[in-house]
Amino acid sequence: MDKLTSELVSIASSLINYKTVSPDGNEYLCRSYLTKKFKDVRMKISVLAKNKRRPNIIGEIGNSGRSLVIACHIDVVAAGSGWRTDPFKAVVKNGRIYGRGAIDDKGPFAISYCAVKKFVRDYPDFKGKIYLVALADEEADNVYGVKYLLKNGFKADAGLIPDGGYFSKLDIGEKGCLQLKIESFGKQAHSALDEYGENALSNLTSIVEKIKLVKWPQKFDKKFSETKVNFSLFHAGEIANTVPPYAYVQMDIRYPFGVGSDEVFKKVKGVVANCAGKFKLKTIYKTEPHLVKDRALIKLFVRSAKKVGVDIKTIILAGNSVAKEFNEAGIPSIVHYPMDHLPIHEPNEYIEIDSMVKTVGLYYEFFKEYFGVKYKKRYSRPLEGIKI
Ligand SMILES: [Zn+2]
Repeated sequence: MDKLTSELVSIASSLINYKTVSPDGNEYLCRSYLTKKFKDVRMKISVLAKNKRRPNIIGEIGNSGRSLVIACHIDVVAAGSGWRTDPFKAVVKNGRIYGRGAIDDKGPFAISYCAVKKFVRDYPDFKGKIYLVALADEEADNVYGVKYLLKNGFKADAGLIPDGGYFSKLDIGEKGCLQLKIESFGKQAHSALDEYGENALSNLTSIVEKIKLVKWPQKFDKKFSETKVNFSLFHAGEIANTVPPYAYVQMDIRYPFGVGSDEVFKKVKGVVANCAGKFKLKTIYKTEPHLVKDRALIKLFVRSAKKVGVDIKTIILAGNSVAKEFNEAGIPSIVHYPMDHLPIHEPNEYIEIDSMVKTVGLYYEFFKEYFGVKYKKRYSRPLEGIKI
């Protein structure tokens, strides 16, 4: 193993071994490890924590000029079942690192760190500033993580989020998401005497059928796909011989850039208002669609990829990453993962070591492009493990 490879493996493995499972997170477990790593590259460190156990740790290096934030999250989802090894003890086997968080998002943190380290070593006088952020709470609500960071005034000129998209597909936009709950209120009665009751379930199912027929707004950016509804949760009744007095359904609607959550909400509200029965409509969660406005940023990344022999396409995702929060806060952010097959949230999650090395090369090239560093001034040693 060369020096770069062993450092990648060491950082990813160390992080996997800290049990930082959301919703509790406990990202503080990694705090001193990360702080030491940031110090090793002479980064200035700041910690932003709404809750001491859930810190966001920020490493900062550079000076005035254009800034770039690279943000990875340090929390992971629960192990679940089906693991062949201990999910919280990294195992290196057949060119892969196995463990919860390997690809989502501890491995990508190791990659980002090594790319930054290489860049600042080769270009110590680069003009601009890099923020490398270890975020908390991404797998839960982002309340202690990116939301807290941005609420506290964190700013940068652009962002790279190694937590979505694919190795050869760059995520440049994400749909909006509106999760709604419709409650239906009826009147309980014996099933044999249903004329004395009002069936909350029947009333609700007719709403569901009508929502399926809704014509969603058609004025949207055609890089995005249509609005889609998924009915995800349904509850009604307790026993067969009784008319259910209460029922509810929850749905998840994903809509394209150009359509607002208020428009989508109004459509559903219109259906509910025109159905027989008594209902309550409630928003549980919502985000707006976004599309990265900074075309130059996208081009820079695509060009950097070309330099390392990777042909990158841009894509729009229906899922949401923290890039949404960054973009909404005026920090145009692109999203990229180091692999094309993504065993995220699965048992036996892994990251390929080769892909990590390749991605370090790509990010390193991207930093060069972004900060406009053309010539290696203080460059003395060859880069280990990287062909550029
Ligand atoms: Zn993630």
